[in-house]
Amino acid sequence: MPTAATVAAGHGPDRPSGAAPAELLRRLRARSGGDADPVTHVERVPARPGEQTPWPLWAPEELRAAFARRGVVAPWRHQAEAADLAYAGTHVVVATGTASGKSLAYQLPALATLLADPRATVLYLAPTKALAADQLRAVAGLELDGVRPATYDGDTPRAEREWIRRHSRFVLTNPDMLHHGILPGHAHWSGFLRRLAYVIVDECHTYRGVFGSHVAHVLRRLRRQCARFGRTPVFLLASATSGDPATAAGRLTGLPVAAVTDDASPRGGVTFALWEPPLLPGPGQAPGAGQAPGVGGPAGGAGDLAPVRRSALRETADLLADAVAAGVRTLAFVRSRKGAEVVAATARRALDEAVPGLGERVAAYRAGYLREERRELERALLHGDLLGLASTNALELGVDLVGLDAVLICGWPGTRASLWQQAGRAGRSGDEALAVLVARDDPLDTYLVHHPEALFGRPVEATVLDPANPYVLAPQLACAAAEAPLTPADLDLFGDGAKEAVDSLVAAGALRQRPTGWYWRHRERPEVDLRGEGGAPVCVVEAATGRLLGTVDGGSAHFLVHAGAVHLHQGVSYVVDSLDLDDGCALVHPEEPDWSTHARDVTSLTVASVRSYVDAGPVGLFLGEVDVTSQVVSYQRRRISSGEVIDTRPLDLPARELRTVAVWFTLSPESLAAAGVEPADVPGALHAAEHAAIGLLPLMATCDRWDIGGLSTALHPDTEAPTVFVYDGHPGGAGFAERAYGTAAQWLRATRDAIAECGCEAGCPSCVQSPKCGNGNNPLSKPGALRVLDVVLANLPAPADPGAALPRQGDRRTG
Ligand SMILES: [Zn+2]
Ligand SMILES: [Zn+2]
Repeated sequence: MPTAATVAAGHGPDRPSGAAPAELLRRLRARSGGDADPVTHVERVPARPGEQTPWPLWAPEELRAAFARRGVVAPWRHQAEAADLAYAGTHVVVATGTASGKSLAYQLPALATLLADPRATVLYLAPTKALAADQLRAVAGLELDGVRPATYDGDTPRAEREWIRRHSRFVLTNPDMLHHGILPGHAHWSGFLRRLAYVIVDECHTYRGVFGSHVAHVLRRLRRQCARFGRTPVFLLASATSGDPATAAGRLTGLPVAAVTDDASPRGGVTFALWEPPLLPGPGQAPGAGQAPGVGGPAGGAGDLAPVRRSALRETADLLADAVAAGVRTLAFVRSRKGAEVVAATARRALDEAVPGLGERVAAYRAGYLREERRELERALLHGDLLGLASTNALELGVDLVGLDAVLICGWPGTRASLWQQAGRAGRSGDEALAVLVARDDPLDTYLVHHPEALFGRPVEATVLDPANPYVLAPQLACAAAEAPLTPADLDLFGDGAKEAVDSLVAAGALRQRPTGWYWRHRERPEVDLRGEGGAPVCVVEAATGRLLGTVDGGSAHFLVHAGAVHLHQGVSYVVDSLDLDDGCALVHPEEPDWSTHARDVTSLTVASVRSYVDAGPVGLFLGEVDVTSQVVSYQRRRISSGEVIDTRPLDLPARELRTVAVWFTLSPESLAAAGVEPADVPGALHAAEHAAIGLLPLMATCDRWDIGGLSTALHPDTEAPTVFVYDGHPGGAGFAERAYGTAAQWLRATRDAIAECGCEAGCPSCVQSPKCGNGNNPLSKPGALRVLDVVLANLPAPADPGAALPRQGDRRTG
C-alpha cells in the first residue's frame, strides 16, 4: 500500500494553500495503485456569478437600509421572486442551495408587512431551538422599530411569556411548542393569532415521514384557529434543494404552494470526483453464484458480510493523509463520531510515518466543544496551522467552516441536499476546490458512483410525508377537538381519512357527537408526541448515575437499545447493559468499543387490504395495508475500521405487530421459469432483489433504509405467487411505500442497474447483501435477482413522463 511519503516528498507542510484540484486529484488517483481506477466520474461544477435584482418597490427604505448595514445591497433574483409572491398573498416555498440566502426571501415580505402594518404579527417555526436562536439574532440585529422579535419555547421563562404574547410581533418557536403550548393555549394567543400575517416554516424538508405528517396537522390546527378570527395567514416555506418542493410543501400545509427553485446566488467552482474503493482480492469473496453460504439462520457466524471492498473509512483516511501531505486544507465528513476518530487517527499515523510531526496537523472534531474551542479550531484550519479535520455532519459540527481547499465525504450522506451542503464547504471566492464522494459498501452508494446523473442532474429525492396516516390523523384530530369542537367543515381541512378517524374516536369514547359537532370528552388534553411513534418511548438511563440520557421511540427500541447494543447519544458512545421492556427503560454505561452493533429481525406478513394495483400480465404491482409481525432475534458486532463481522449474538425479545403500508410485486412462476430462474433459485433471487430494492428506495424518497422493511417468498399465501414486499417501518405508514409504488419503474430500474454494475461475482454488501437481514443473507442469488427485475421491468408500464416520476398530490386511494 502506498504511504503518504510518496506524495509528501518535495511539498513543505507550511503551504497555506495546496495543490489545485485537478493536480490533487491526479495525485490521489496515482497513489491508489489498484487495477481499476477508483474514480468513476469527475464533474466540473462551474462557478456561477450570481444575479441580483433591484429591491421590490414595496420594500420600505428602512428595511433596505437595515439589510444594507448587514452587507446586502440588493437581493438575488430568487429571493426577490419568492418575496414578491408572498407579499402578493401567494403561499410560497423557496427551495435553493445552502448559503443561497433563503432567510432574506422570507424576512423581506414578513418584515415589510410588520413595518407597514403596526398591528400585524409573524410566526416563525424552526425544527430546532438552535436554528430559532440564530434567526432571532439575525432579525434582532436588523434593529427595526416595533418588531420586538422573541423566541417562545420550552426554555422561555414563565415571567416573559405573557409579555411575548402581548407585545412581540415576530415570535420564533418550533412545531413541538406550537403543538404542546400555543395551540392548546390559544385563548391566550387570540390577540396574536387574529393579527397573524405570515407563518414562516424554515428548513421544511426536515418535516418528513411520521414526524412530518404530525407537523402537517399541527399546521392545519393553526390554520383552523386563525380562521376562527377570519384570518388566513400566508405560508412562507424554506427548503433545502429537493424534488418537487411544491408538492411536499402543499402536503405539509394543505394549501396550494408556489415553488421558487432557480438559485441565483453566486458560488465558487468545484471539481467533484466520485470514488469507489477497489475490490479486495481473495477470501472476502462470497461463494459461487446463487449458492447459500451454508450457515443457516441468524446465528450464522462471521462468514456472511465479510468485507469485499476496501472500507470507505480506510480509503478516506488515506485520501486525507495524502491531501494534508500535499498541503491542502481538507475536511472529511464521516457518518459516526467513532468513524471520524478512526479516519483522523489512521491519517495521523500515515503522516507521522512519512514526516514525523506532520500527524499533529490532523484533528478529529469531538462533540461537546465549547464555543471558544470551536472558534479556535476554525482559526487553526483557516490559517493552515491545522490542515486536516475529520468530523461528523455539519449540523453537529457547529463550526463555521467554509472556504476549504478540499472536502472528502465518506459514504453517501443520505440526501443530495446534505451532499451539497457538505461539498459546499469547499471553495473560496475565485478559487477552485475539490470534493470527493467515497462510496461505502452499500447498493445505493454503488449506484450513485456509477450514475452521476442521479447526483448532478435534476434533484431526485422528494420529501415524503403522509398526513392521511390514521395513526397520525386520529390523535391529531383528538388534539384539534380538545382545542375547539370539530365541525363537518373541519373534516375537509384535515383531508383524506378524517371522517373515518373521527368515527373511530367516537367509537373509542374519546369524542362525543352532538348536533353542533364532535366534542372532546375528557378533562385532560390528549397526550400526543410529534416525534414518538409505535408505543411508549423507552428511557435510556446511565446505570451508574441514574441520569436520563434521552428516549428512543418504542418502535425502534428493540433494534437500537437491546442488551449489548452500542448506542450513540449526542456523539458519546454507550453500551446497553439491559433492556427492561416492562419498565420501558434501557440501562447503559459509557464505553467506546471499536465495533458497532447491527440488530437483525425475522418477519412474517399478511395482506390486510389492497389500496391500488397495476395488472401487468405475469407481473402485479400493489399498494396496500399489511400486518407485519417481526422479532429482533440477534445482533452482529462489526469492526468499525474494516466492517469485518466479529460475531453474531442471539437476543431474547418478544415479537411485535405492526399495521402499515406496503408496496409489493408478484411474478408468475411461468415467467420466472421462462427467464431462466430455476425453481430452487427463486427464493434467493427474490431475496436478493428485495435487499437491493430496499437499499435503493432512499433514492426516490427521503428515508433511510432503516425506515423500511422487506419480505420475499417463493409463495405467499395471500398473493399465491412469488412475491417481494417492501413496507414502511412505522405504524400506519409514513409515505415511503406509497412513493415507491408511484415511482416503481424508476426505482426497480435503478435497483437492477445497481446490481448489474457491481463488480463482485456473487453478491456483496454493495449490491444484494443487507446489514439487517434476519436470515444471515441466505439464500441470495445475484444473477437470479437480475432476471427477476428484468421480468418485472419488461412488463411494468413505463411512466408517462419518465423525467417527472413524482406522484401527483391527491392521487392516493383512487385504485
Ligand atoms: Zn456486489
Ligand atoms: Zn434478508
